[in-house]
Amino acid sequence: MAGTAVRGRLSWLTATVGPVSDETPRVRTLRLEVPGWPGHRAGQHVDIRLTADDGYQAERAYSIASAPGEPLAITVERLDDGEVSPYLTEEVRPGDLLEVRGPIGGYFVWEPGSGGPLLLAAGGSGVVPLRSILRHRSLTNSSVPVRLLYSSRSFQDVIYQTELGFPAEGVSVTYTLTRSQPRGWTGYARRVDAQMLSDVAWPAADMPLAYVCGPTRFVESVSAGLVGLGYPAGRVKTERFGATGQ
Ligand SMILES: Cc1cc2nc3c(=O)[nH]c(=O)nc-3n(C[C@H](O)[C@H](O)[C@H](O)COP(=O)(O)OP(=O)(O)OC[C@H]3O[C@@H](n4cnc5c(N)ncnc54)[C@H](O)[C@@H]3O)c2cc1C
Repeated sequence: MAGTAVRGRLSWLTATVGPVSDETPRVRTLRLEVPGWPGHRAGQHVDIRLTADDGYQAERAYSIASAPGEPLAITVERLDDGEVSPYLTEEVRPGDLLEVRGPIGGYFVWEPGSGGPLLLAAGGSGVVPLRSILRHRSLTNSSVPVRLLYSSRSFQDVIYQTELGFPAEGVSVTYTLTRSQPRGWTGYARRVDAQMLSDVAWPAADMPLAYVCGPTRFVESVSAGLVGLGYPAGRVKTERFGATGQ
C-alpha cells in the first residue's frame, strides 16, 4: 500500500489554471485547481509539465506559494530568454490545462513543531516557498518569531509586496535592493554580505533555524555566511532555483 501511495503522489495530474494575479511586471501567481491534489506542506514544490501541439514537452520545478490547506498556487518569474516561464507569466489564461506532479520535497519544509526562531533569506523568486512558510505560521497561529531578509533588484521587483508590507505579529521583514532604490531609500542597497547577516540574522546562540532560497550563488553565499556566524550547517536549510540571477 505504501508503494501505491508513493506512485500516486508522483503521477502527473491535470490542473486547470484558476485566477492569475500579477505580483510585479515580471512575476505572476497562478492558482491551480487540481482534482485529486493530495495536499502539501510549507516549503515543498511541484513539477509543471507543458505539452505543445506537436507533442514536445517541457518540465520545470516551481515552489508552492500557498500554505497547506489553501488552494495550490505557484508564483513564476519571467526569464525573457526562458522556455517555460514566459508562457506561464504571459500566455497562460484561466481555464487552460497543464500538468502538475507533486508535492515534492521533505527537507525544505517547515511545520510549527520544527521550532525556531526562524531566519528566512530570499533572493528574488526564492521568496515563494518562504511565503508558504509565513502563511502557514499565521494560519496555525504559531508564535515562532521570524526575520525575513529579502534581496530584490529593485522595490518594483519585490514579490508579495502588499502582504509583506503588513507582516504578522512576530515577523520582521528587511529588504535589500541590489540594483536600484526608490528616492529616499534608507534600507540596504547591496548584495547580502557578512555584515548584513550579522545585523539582521538571529544570533547563533538563539538556536535559530534558517531557510535560504534563491539563485544558486545567493544560496551558497548566504548559507556560508550563516555558518560563519556560528549557525550549525544542519540548521541552515537551502533550496537552489538554478543559475538565474536576482
Ligand atoms: C526546486 C525548485 C523550485 C523552483 N521554484 C521556482 C519558483 O517558485 N518560481 C520561479 O520563477 N522559478 C522557480 N524555479 C526555477 C524554475 O524551475 C525554472 O528554472 C525557471 O522558471 C526558468 O525556466 P525557463 O524554462 O523559463 O527557462 P530555461 O529555458 O530553463 O532557461 C533558464 C536560463 O538558462 C539559460 N539557458 C537555457 N538553456 C541554456 C543552455 N543550453 N546554455 C546556457 N544557458 C542556457 C536561459 O538563457 C535562461 O536564462 C525553481 C527551481 C527549482 C529547482
